[in-house]
Amino acid sequence: MTDCLFCKIVKGEVSSTVVFENGKFLVFKDIHPKADVHVLVVPKEHIASVDHITERDKAVLGDMFLTVKDAAEKLGVSGRYRLLVNVGRDGGQEIDHLHMHILAGDRREVPRE
Ligand code: 5GP
Ligand code: ZN
Repeated sequence: MTDCLFCKIVKGEVSSTVVFENGKFLVFKDIHPKADVHVLVVPKEHIASVDHITERDKAVLGDMFLTVKDAAEKLGVSGRYRLLVNVGRDGGQEIDHLHMHILAGDRREVPRE
């Protein structure tokens, strides 16, 4: 996806503050943090949203949770974080490249519901 912001971040064409990386994922700080720790777990492969996943994506989706666990350990927030996935514009998704938010510490404007 040539004009996808997160694909550009994955390729290093747009800068970001990377906190964790493995073969399939990049984890970087959200530019507008809504908690003390607020990072985005982004597959290097372009998948638009949960609504776009297929059987073929099952492995990467499992790896996504393992990456969350590893990134949480690296960030020192294991056992005290929330995960958030927005789907679709009306579901709060701003960037059409699948990602999970890891949020920990004091919350700022992040509804629990
Ligand atoms: P969404 O609303 O799609 O679930 O989350 C997208 C997130 O990406 C938002 O929290 C927003 O602050 C963050 N974001 C948008 N543009 C950039 C950017 O250029 N760099 C980084 N690091 N985060 C971004
Ligand atoms: Zn993308």
